[in-house]
Amino acid sequence: MKETAGNSLNNRFENDLDERMAKAIREEKRKQKDRERKRKNKAAARKLVLLLIVLAAAACLCVGLVKLFSSDVFETEEEFIAFADDSFESDSVCPESGVDDREYHFSEETSVAVRRGDWVDGETKSFLDRQINNISEKNNDAKALLIDTAAYTAENGAISAVIHYSTYTVDGRHMKRAVSKVDTYLFNPDTHRVADPLQVMNVNYKSKARDYAQEYFSKTFSKKQLSENWEDYIDSTDGNFNKFVVTSEQVTFFFDDGTVLQEGEGTPEMSVPQTIIGSAIRPVVLERYIDKKKPMVALTFDDGPYTKTETKILDVLERNGSVATFFYVGNRVENDHESALRAVKIGCELGNHSWSHPVLSQLDNKQVMSQIKKTNAVIHKYCGVEPVVARPPYGEFNDRVLKKTGMAQILWSLDTLDWKSRDPEAIFKAVKKAKSLDGKIILMHSIYEESAEATELIVPWLKENGYQTVTVSELIKYRTGRTPKAGQVYKKLN
Ligand code: ZN
Repeated sequence: MKETAGNSLNNRFENDLDERMAKAIREEKRKQKDRERKRKNKAAARKLVLLLIVLAAAACLCVGLVKLFSSDVFETEEEFIAFADDSFESDSVCPESGVDDREYHFSEETSVAVRRGDWVDGETKSFLDRQINNISEKNNDAKALLIDTAAYTAENGAISAVIHYSTYTVDGRHMKRAVSKVDTYLFNPDTHRVADPLQVMNVNYKSKARDYAQEYFSKTFSKKQLSENWEDYIDSTDGNFNKFVVTSEQVTFFFDDGTVLQEGEGTPEMSVPQTIIGSAIRPVVLERYIDKKKPMVALTFDDGPYTKTETKILDVLERNGSVATFFYVGNRVENDHESALRAVKIGCELGNHSWSHPVLSQLDNKQVMSQIKKTNAVIHKYCGVEPVVARPPYGEFNDRVLKKTGMAQILWSLDTLDWKSRDPEAIFKAVKKAKSLDGKIILMHSIYEESAEATELIVPWLKENGYQTVTVSELIKYRTGRTPKAGQVYKKLN
C-alpha cells in the first residue's frame, strides 16, 4: 500500500512533470509558430517592397519609353485641332471678351488655327482679317501657325484689338515654338482709322504704367525668368508701353518675347485696373495726335494711282497709323482709283502731279493751267477731295509755271532714287543713312513693287526711331503755322 502510495505519489509527480513539460513544449511551439509567423510576415513584407520597387521601376521605364517614342507632332486634322486647342488654353494672352470662335485649316504645309474673341464690329473684323492674311502669308514655312485675336471697346469709345500669334516647327518628335509675337491696334471709333496711343491715353499714362510694372514684374516672375535689363523695357520712354488694349475694366499691356522676360519665356501681359490707370485714359479719343516738338517726316509717292502696288503701301501705313502724300497723274485716276479712295480714308493726302506728266516749263500758259485743273477735277470727282499741293513732273518748273499753277509746289529733301535702284534694301538704306529726317520730304514712287516693299521696312523703322509721319500739308502747318501757300515752293521744313 505504502509502496502503492509512494508509487502513486511518484506517479503524480511524474504526471505533474509531464504536464509542465507538455506546457513548456506547447509554449515553445507557440513561440516558435509566432517567430515563424513573424519571419513569414517579414519575408512577405520584403517581397512586397521588392515587388513595389520592381513595379515602380517598370512604370518609370514605361514613362521613359512612352516619352521616347511618343510625339505631339500632329498628322491628322483631329490631332492638329487637339494641339491647337491645347496651345490656345496654355498660351493665350488676350483678355477675356466673352466670345470664343475657332477656325482650323489643316494642311500638308502650314496648318493654321485662328481663335477670335469679340471683334466689336464689321470694320474691325475686316481689319483683323487683313492682318491675319498678312501674318499667314509671311509665316508659310512653319508646321503650325496659331493666331489668337480679340477686340474691345473702352469707355471713351476707343476700339482696341490684339493679335497674338505663334509659329511651331517640328523638332524631332515634338512641336517647338519658333516665334511668338503680339501686335495691338487702337482705332478712332468715328473714323475707324488706326490711332496713336496718345490719341487714346493722356501723356502721363506711361509713368503710371511704369510704377505698376515695377512691382508687378518683380513680384510675379523669378529673377531667373526676368531678363538682365528688364527695367529698360518698363521705363516711360518712347519705345515702351505702346502695345496695349483698353477694355471697360482695365488696360492690358503686352511685352515682346525677350524684352522684360528672357527669350523663350513668351510674351507676358500686364493688366492694370481702371482704378489705377483710369485717370490716364482720355475722356474722348483725339482725331489725331501730333507732338509739334517731336521729329516729323513727310513720305511722298509719285506717279500713281496704281492700286496693285499701292495696296501694299496702304496696308503698312494703316497698320502703323502712319500717313503719306500721293501725287497723282490725272489721266490715270478714272480707271484706277480704288487705292486713292482708301488712301483718303486712312488720312493720307492726295496731291496733283499734272494730267499727263509733261515738263511743265515747256508748255504754254494755257496748257499748264489745263494740266493742273483737269487733274484737280478728276481727283475731286472720284476721290471726293480737292488737292491743295502739287508736284511738278521731274521737279521741273520756272516762275511762270509757278504763277500759272496757282498751287503750292512741293519738291523733296531726300531722294530715295527708288526708280533707279529698284531695290528695297537700297531704298531703305537711303532713308536710314540721313543724319536727321526731321522736317524732310522723302521722294518715292508708288508704281513699283520694290518701292512698296521698301515702305514695309521704312514705316515701322520711322516709328521705332521716334519719327511721326505727317502729310505734306500737315508738315507745312506744324512747321510754319500756316496752310500751304499758292505759288510757294516747299522743299524742307525744319
Ligand atoms: Zn513723276
